[in-house]
Amino acid sequence: MNPFNELGIRHDIVNAITELGFEKPTPIQESAIPVLLSGSNDFVGLAQTGTGKTAAFGLPLLELIDYKKNFPQALILCPTRELCLQISNDIKNFAKNLPNASVVAVYGGANIVNQLRDIKRGVQIVVATPGRMKDILNRKAIDFSQVNYVVLDEADEMLNMGFQEDIDEILSTTPDTKKTWLFSATMPREVRAIAQNYMTDPKELTMGTKNSGNVNIDHEYYVVKARDKYAAFKRIVDYNPDIFGIVFCRTKIETQEIAEALIKDGYNADALHGDLSQQQRDKVMKRYRDRSLQLLIATDVAARGIDVNEVTHVINYSLPDEIANYTHRSGRTGRAGKTGVSIAIINSRELHKIRQIEKVIGKQFTKTEVPTGFDVVEKQLFGLIHKVNEVEVNDQQIDQYLPRIMGEFGEMSKEELIKRFVSLEFNRFLEYYKGARDLNADATEERGSRDGKRSERGERGDRGRGAEAGFTRLFINLGAVDDFSRGDLLGYICNNTGISGKSVGRIDMKGVFSFFEVESDLTNQVIEAFKPIDYHGRDVRIEVSGDGGSSNGGGERRGGGGERRRGAGGFGGGERRGGERRERSGGGSDRGERRSRERSGGSAFRDFSGKRREDRREGGSGRSRRSDW
Ligand code: AMP
Repeated sequence: MNPFNELGIRHDIVNAITELGFEKPTPIQESAIPVLLSGSNDFVGLAQTGTGKTAAFGLPLLELIDYKKNFPQALILCPTRELCLQISNDIKNFAKNLPNASVVAVYGGANIVNQLRDIKRGVQIVVATPGRMKDILNRKAIDFSQVNYVVLDEADEMLNMGFQEDIDEILSTTPDTKKTWLFSATMPREVRAIAQNYMTDPKELTMGTKNSGNVNIDHEYYVVKARDKYAAFKRIVDYNPDIFGIVFCRTKIETQEIAEALIKDGYNADALHGDLSQQQRDKVMKRYRDRSLQLLIATDVAARGIDVNEVTHVINYSLPDEIANYTHRSGRTGRAGKTGVSIAIINSRELHKIRQIEKVIGKQFTKTEVPTGFDVVEKQLFGLIHKVNEVEVNDQQIDQYLPRIMGEFGEMSKEELIKRFVSLEFNRFLEYYKGARDLNADATEERGSRDGKRSERGERGDRGRGAEAGFTRLFINLGAVDDFSRGDLLGYICNNTGISGKSVGRIDMKGVFSFFEVESDLTNQVIEAFKPIDYHGRDVRIEVSGDGGSSNGGGERRGGGGERRRGAGGFGGGERRGGERRERSGGGSDRGERRSRERSGGSAFRDFSGKRREDRREGGSGRSRRSDW
């Protein structure tokens, strides 16, 4: 007998889930299903995503619905469209053999008319995001007066996204007698308050320790200097040729920039953030799910609800503002019994954040060294050897060419032949990583490259106290007396040149003038951009600083020409995207319901033309942003 039968699930449903490969219940299903099946308790389940919690509440709901009645009996609220679709599809799959079961998904960013039509036809289980649900309730298009069960899924996320008032409003339309089942990955005060306000003596179930991360996930951190972050990140990726990862950034702008830099550098990556239209996001997600993308660069909000089971690595390119988000991010790997690695790339001032996260997740991070160029080359070499070993040979096709091939190589020894084939790929790695610096923040010059040679690239400029490697120090005839702060100057430079804040290095504010560093290959662009510009009638003058001109040490520069390009069979292989660029969708909101919340928070550069250019962050805690650090 299938163990799900023993838990009290009917044959029709068990048959459907067996087809989905559910042979035995996951721990949360085993504990929660009997409690929820009784239908007589409120319930709080502390569980990560990927633990099988959809079936933990979905299967009991399907048992408790009265299929003779065609009105809403259960309402499931969840934070994102993606999760809403995922839950409704899962439940429809579980209910495949129940001909009278009716499940409708209600979410923003899609045509409301179709959803209203589906509701009108009759529905027993509604799966909804709060914004759209409220909208439909306001139109009086649905009646929740006979709802018996409400599920609040990823309750912490819904509160993070500022849905508290919407949830209050929606729940006020349901009867007092209903049972509420709440699921959350973390249990901050605010979620605890929901449990107290809406529930009577709820049964509580904790999977693992409170707030703890998934046991299948290893946590690692790398300490690098801020300017080396991108190069270190690329090394980590190169060191893991089979990586299938999600890379988290804090802002939409950072997400877009990192994705574009990676694409330029020949990696198989794309961005997922709230400035993309729903259609664009669906496209990116489809490519990621199909594994034609290797790296998904995402914001916290955009990545919510992603349920791809094979993610090998989560990389925190920037740590999140809120510790709880670290749990959500890392929960994207190590799913469905698989193992995964969650990596944080930090600077030495962020170590305390790692310690705080450790306390919350109840697990220790391992400090890991950024691989040396030598390590990467070695790893790639043996990766290639492994691939040669594994490759499927199509004898039929290749046989016809063999005589000619043998003619070419007949004279060559086996050893010589192997060396040549391997060198085809290997030379590129060797060339790229030749003399590559040690990128660990506490690295000494001596530690440098393993072969003991002083690094040829990326060292400090040779003009005394000049710019950082790869940067050029520029003079500007504006300074503190002009009422500029460093941040103002950064904004002023970026706004007038169109370059990213990341391309600007150290800024030294003086009285009537200042110095700032830019990536060396942008020097001319910056100088040219300022030529026509005046500040309150005074010409703005920019020159390469006399005391520290261009340092040629580019190191592993971002983007730009001269970088190695990965071919299809190269670092990590897979599809390579060339110059293809996506247009930003600008203001075109895909998810009107959450848009205003996504806009809150973030820093704004001072803009001297009167405009404010916002470096918007996504998500946050709704009305006021919270930072745990
Ligand atoms: P969830 O936490 O509900 O998002 O589920 C995570 C993944 O595990 C989904 O892909 C489910 O289809 C899968 N899953 C859930 N329960 C089981 C089970 N009992 N056996 C095998 N896979 C499961």
